Amino acid sequence: MISGETRLAAVIGAPVRHSLSPAIHNAAFAAAEIDAVYVAMPVAPGDAEHAVDAMRRFQWLGMSVTMPHKATVLPAVDGITDAARALRAANCLFWDDDRLMADSTDGAGFVRGLEHELGVVASGARFAVVGAGGAARAVVGAVAAAGADSIVVVNRSPVRAEEAVAQAPALTRVGGFDELSAADVVVNATPLGMAGTDQAGAIPFDVGLLRDDAVVSDLIYHPVETPLLQLAEARGLRAQNGVAMLVFQAAVAFERWTGVEAPVEAMQAAVAGALEPGDAPPSLES
Ligand code: NAP
Repeated sequence: MISGETRLAAVIGAPVRHSLSPAIHNAAFAAAEIDAVYVAMPVAPGDAEHAVDAMRRFQWLGMSVTMPHKATVLPAVDGITDAARALRAANCLFWDDDRLMADSTDGAGFVRGLEHELGVVASGARFAVVGAGGAARAVVGAVAAAGADSIVVVNRSPVRAEEAVAQAPALTRVGGFDELSAADVVVNATPLGMAGTDQAGAIPFDVGLLRDDAVVSDLIYHPVETPLLQLAEARGLRAQNGVAMLVFQAAVAFERWTGVEAPVEAMQAAVAGALEPGDAPPSLES
């Protein structure tokens, strides 16, 4: 029941109305009995600082940030976490006492989702990341921070591959598809295979190249059974789609806002309910 005590959290973006975040976070607030409500708030390009000002003035509990505001919120906050600083982008604003902080929870969400769903710890593992955009950079930075043994970035354009390598240059390098055979965990961080795009049905790499004990993590979650996932499972490999990263980046944000352990099962159920087969492609932000 919304009352005078109810706190507000919101995702800002443009567009934002099809975001899955309200379903995920409202389910989490309900399950954890947090008196808060989470809404999607359309904020026009160039207006992010006004939304951040509203969070300050009206003491919102928390804010999620999606395109096109992920970089433009940064000058408006009091502090930036290492993850957000490295990516020069934030998807979560939270209070640290009276300081308004910006964080990027995607990478931490990936690491937690990998361990929770497949039992794979990033520490000591050899990663190969196919793709070098925002999601790939988040994964590279987070698995490096978690103690990965090595990371190879395989990408279409070499310049962007080098940018991803720069997230953790001591253990990361640019490589080719032939190097996927050495990886313990192979991540698809391209849109190849995403429903509702001209890449639907596309396969980002040949699963025949992978070791028998390799793990595949496809960051795509629409469709839930991605083409890559189907091929990996047909080969007998352990594999996950992008729902784990989606849920756990939200879990990290929830914990930033509330100080309470995220009710992950309720959040997973909310995503499963929203991703029924045949639904329109959801927006990707946190
Ligand atoms: P992005 O910044 O646009 O980067 C896309 C990457 O994919 C680039 O490296 C690009 O290569 C590569 N790519 C695109 N089309 C390609 C093609 N036809 N052939 C080969 N490579 C291609 O996108 P992003 O934000 O990183 O997102 C990447 C994927 O992660 C998307 O599928 C998205 O759905 C998923 N994602 C999932 C979550 C989650 O929570 N599960 C969160 C964020 C993103 P170039 O550099 O050569 O252009």
